[in-house]
Amino acid sequence: MNWERNVLRVTPYTAGEQPKDPEIIKLNTNENPYPPAPGVVQVLEEMKADPAKMRLYPDMDSTLLVEALAAREGVKPSQVFVGVGSDDVISMAFMTFFRGEDKILFPDITYSFYSVWADVHRIPFETVPLTEDFRIRPEDYIPACTGRPNGGVIFPNPNAPTGIALPLSDVERIIAGNPDSVVIVDEAYIDFGGESAMCLLPKYENLLVVRTFSKSRSLAGMRIGYAVGNEKLISYLQDVKFSFNSYTMNLAAQRVGLASVQDEDYFRTCTGRISATRDRFAAALTERGFEVLPSSANFVFARHPQFTGDDLLAALRARKVLVRHFKAPRIRDFLRITIGTDEQMDAVLRVLDEIIG
Ligand SMILES: *Cc1c(COP(=O)(O)O)cnc(C)c1O
Repeated sequence: MNWERNVLRVTPYTAGEQPKDPEIIKLNTNENPYPPAPGVVQVLEEMKADPAKMRLYPDMDSTLLVEALAAREGVKPSQVFVGVGSDDVISMAFMTFFRGEDKILFPDITYSFYSVWADVHRIPFETVPLTEDFRIRPEDYIPACTGRPNGGVIFPNPNAPTGIALPLSDVERIIAGNPDSVVIVDEAYIDFGGESAMCLLPKYENLLVVRTFSKSRSLAGMRIGYAVGNEKLISYLQDVKFSFNSYTMNLAAQRVGLASVQDEDYFRTCTGRISATRDRFAAALTERGFEVLPSSANFVFARHPQFTGDDLLAALRARKVLVRHFKAPRIRDFLRITIGTDEQMDAVLRVLDEIIG
C-alpha cells in the first residue's frame, strides 16, 4: 500500500473558465474575438475532402510551417521549434535549459504556469518582486547586480497579467547580463504592442523567443506555438522533443498554422483593430475612475478605488460578463479584462456603468 511514495505529486495550473452559457461575454482567457484567417477555413475544407490523409502520421518536423515561420521572422528553419501551443514549447524549454542547481528567476506577478512547470520538472526557482508600479527591474535578474548566479530567466514581454511592456533596451540588458543562463522571452502578447527581442538573436546565443498562435492569430483551439533561437539552442530542444514525443504537431495544426502565417495582411488588420479597441476601452475605464495599467497586450489590468476585485468580478458575472481575477495580495483588487470586439467592450462599459452607478 505504499505506491503513492513513487508518485509525482504536483499542484496543477488553474486555467480560466470555459463557460457553457453562449450569452456570456467571455473576456477571461485573452482569446481573440475575430475568426482565424480565411485560408484556415479553406484548409479545413481540403482536409474534409480527403480524410484518408489522416491515416498517416504527420510530418514530424512540421517542415512547411517551420519554413514559413523562419521566412517571416528572417531566420533559418533550423532556428525554429514548433509545439502544441506555447505552453508545450515553454514546458520543453524548462526541461531542456533549466537543468542547473541555481534557482531560475521570474517575476512574482506573471504567468502563473511558470511556477507549475518549475514544480513538475523539479526546477528550483525564485520569484522576483515587480516594482511598486508593477514593472520588471532588469538589475534584479543580472548576477553582476544581485551578486548571485541563477539557473535561467523567463518573463513575458509584455508581462501578464499587467500588460506592461519592458523596453527592448532593458530586455537586452537582462540577456547580455546572463551569458551563463538561457533567457526565455515569452512574447505571447507582442503582436499587440511592445518591442520584440527577435532582432537580438544574432547577438546572443542564450536567447530563446517564444510566441503563440492562440492570441494574435485566433487559434487557441488548434494549439500552436513556436520558439526561435540560435541553431544550437533549437537542436537541444529538438533532441528533448524527439526523446519524448516525435509527433507533437498534428496534421491539421500544421496546415492551419501555415495558412495563418501566409496571411500577414489579415493578421495585421486583426491585431491593429484589437490594439485600437484596447486604447479606447482603457480611456473609457479611466474616465470611470478606474486605475488602468498601461497595456501593450490584448487585455487591460484595472482596479476601481471603490470596489474590491471580488465584488466587481461577482457583479460582472451576475450580468454575464466573465473576466479574470487573481487572488495574490498585490493584485487582488485588479481585474484582467480581455479585449473583445468594439460591441463587446461597449456592452461591458454599459454594465460597468450599472454597477458603479
Ligand atoms: C496564453 C499564454 C501562453 C500560452 O499560450 P498557448 O495557448 O499555450 O500557446 C504562454 N504565455 C503567456 C504569458 C500567455 O499569456
